[in-house]
Amino acid sequence: MDCKRLLLTALLGLVCASCATPTPRGSPGALEDVQPGHRPTATSDEAGLWMYMERMEQRLRTSGRIVTDAGLNEYVRGILCKLFPSYCKDIRFYIVETPHFNASMAPNGFMQIWTGLLLRAENEAQLAYILGHEFGHYVRRHSVQQWRSVRKTTDALTFFNLGAGAAGVGYVGNIAQLAALASIMAFSRDQEREADTIGFELMVRADYDSTEAARTWEALIAERDAADAPEQFIFFSTHPATEDRVKTLKQRTANLKVTGNPIKGREPYLSAIRPFRAAWLRGELYKHDFSATQVLLDRLIAVGDNPGELYFFRGELNRIRGEEGDAERAISNYHRALETLDAPAETSRSMGLVFWRSGRAEEARAAFQRYLGARVDAPDREMVESYVKELE
Ligand SMILES: [Zn+2]
Repeated sequence: MDCKRLLLTALLGLVCASCATPTPRGSPGALEDVQPGHRPTATSDEAGLWMYMERMEQRLRTSGRIVTDAGLNEYVRGILCKLFPSYCKDIRFYIVETPHFNASMAPNGFMQIWTGLLLRAENEAQLAYILGHEFGHYVRRHSVQQWRSVRKTTDALTFFNLGAGAAGVGYVGNIAQLAALASIMAFSRDQEREADTIGFELMVRADYDSTEAARTWEALIAERDAADAPEQFIFFSTHPATEDRVKTLKQRTANLKVTGNPIKGREPYLSAIRPFRAAWLRGELYKHDFSATQVLLDRLIAVGDNPGELYFFRGELNRIRGEEGDAERAISNYHRALETLDAPAETSRSMGLVFWRSGRAEEARAAFQRYLGARVDAPDREMVESYVKELE
């Protein structure tokens, strides 16, 4: 294990042996639920945690990684307000440009939603379930419980410095810092169960199709199981994925007496994310975990939306990975993309590069010319024209 990975593990694995177990509501010693507009009194121990979180929030806000698009932010706010209307005006949320599945809600009420989650959710119901689940951790004050139990065994300053010290150690460091921000530590199984119950109840109350809750986990587990670097699945570090969880969610859905037509919300969801999807998929390829990305792309193709773009990225995966047989696979994916109406113009350019690398000059030239014809305003026109010349 290299030191960056060790740091990541250390950060994410701060689970004490006596992990806080949620005390049922109303029983002696139970923490009160967070009420809308809550702020801890200045003298309470919770105030220290808030101060730290406020600093982290400020850092996140100025990190340059926040997606500020008004349409997307408004859309997500609409879902949050539908799920927990009385908390709506107190919640601050940030869409963070990071190619990993994650969401969290800090004890001072700010939420993070990573673009890797938005890319992976298939519809509004899946996103609503995850947001409801994170809200469950917040409203039941799980972070505060964890913080108190860690404080019994660890010097708080050591803990906070570990989070802050993760900055500036490159890509993994940034992820580790974001993860530290995302959740100050892993939740216990009981806390997870409670958050699942709350997330599930909230989605049902908002009329979302609850079958999507278990589906969200199943899709993520399949991707993690195929991954070359499963430890990069940060969400699992703070939210252990168990068969038990999926089974319980399915059981709950089976026990529901569903009336009417529960909402999946696929169309509005896709309209909201479509303008960003290509950039997010590009970000996935930069992770170079091709096995996991392959599973993700296969799933997105199977559920189907703008298949041209998805086949193009499957071709890109083959082209960048460059293993034996990948050139043929890339060309076949690009062909399938070009059979659709939504293939990006770049499909022909990439195809040209693969043909060229495979010594198929004639086909490479034709592909580059097709690209230049399709993209009159191509920013790399001069360069691609030089390729065509070279291939004549
Ligand atoms: Zn959780």
